[in-house]
Parts: sequence; structure tokens; C-alpha cells
Amino acid sequence: MAKENAGWFTRTEQGIITDTKDKKEIKEGLWYKCPECKKIIPTEDHEANLNVCECGYHARIPAVKYFEILFDNNKY
Ligand SMILES: [Zn+2]
Repeated sequence: MAKENAGWFTRTEQGIITDTKDKKEIKEGLWYKCPECKKIIPTEDHEANLNVCECGYHARIPAVKYFEILFDNNKY
């Protein structure tokens, strides 16, 4: 019984270690690379700037996102 518990514990720890390691890797979709100035910025920041890079490059906005912005601007 005790041995089984220890094995379960070790497996859990390994799972946590693997998780942390995965989080360190740059996940696709979280970062945006500007094709103009080649800068890599977090997608979050990029979206906060309405998909416009600090160099002034406008990224193509998916239709849904575009309408979201439109509706935001037309809230009267
Ligand atoms: Zn740029």
C-alpha cells in the first residue's frame, strides 16, 4: 500500500514538472510577430492596440474581431 502511494506521488510530481516545462515554451497564438518590423509582441498587447503594431503596421483582423470593434465604437 505504502509503495503504491509513493509511486502515485512520484507520478504526480513528474506531471507538475512537465506542466511547468510546457509553460516555459512559447505557445503559438500567444505571440504575434509583426511582418513589418519583425518584432515579437504578446497577442494580448497586440489586440489591446487594435491589432496595430507600434511601427504602425495594421494586421489583418478576423471578421469576428472586426465586428466586435465596430460594435464597440458604435455604442450610443
Ligand atoms: Zn511592427
